[in-house]
Formats: sequence, structure tokens, C-alpha cells
Amino acid sequence: MAVKCPACGFDSPDGASWCDFCKEPFRKKKTAAPQARPERKSISLEELPKEALERLPLELLPGQDGEKVPSAPPWFRTAAWVVLLSILLVVLTMAGMIWARFHAAPR
Ligand SMILES: [Zn+2]
Repeated sequence: MAVKCPACGFDSPDGASWCDFCKEPFRKKKTAAPQARPERKSISLEELPKEALERLPLELLPGQDGEKVPSAPPWFRTAAWVVLLSILLVVLTMAGMIWARFHAAPR
């Protein structure tokens, strides 16, 4: 009697602890019916409604050539904003100081 591999269906000799073909390990007990795993639903981008597509983060969208689009890590965007705002604040402060110096009421 042979053991049927749950992964590839290859018949291995009884008592084998793994599949002869794909090396899938067998359980000690006789291979029960393969556990019903919920099928992972995969939908293509074309099936998505346009509104949902527009809400997708850009990094999930495939590139023009199907390449993976290089994307910055999520924290990077925040860090970039913080740096940008800091620079803006400094520039504004300096501009204000310079303005105050030149427009100080002469005595
Ligand atoms: Zn196998």
C-alpha cells in the first residue's frame, strides 16, 4: 500500500516519513483528507472598482512594465514632512528676524 503525498499526489511506499518526490513530510498517522484551507482570493487590479483603485496606496500598484515600483518605507514620508516643515519654520523665523531688524522703528 502506498501513501499518497498530500502536496503533490506522488505515491510513496508505506511507512515513508516524507514524500519521495517533493519531500513533503508525512504525519505519523495515515494522511487524512487534506484540510480544507480557505482559498486565498486573489483579484486582479482590473476587477477592482475605480474608486477602490484610486484609494490604493501607490506602492501596491504595478509599474509600467510590471516591475516593482521602488517605494519609500511608510515612516519616510512622515520624516520627510517633518524635515520639510522644520526647514520652513527656520526660514520663516529668520525672515521675520531680518524683517524686524530692517523695519525697526528708528529713533
Ligand atoms: Zn510530494
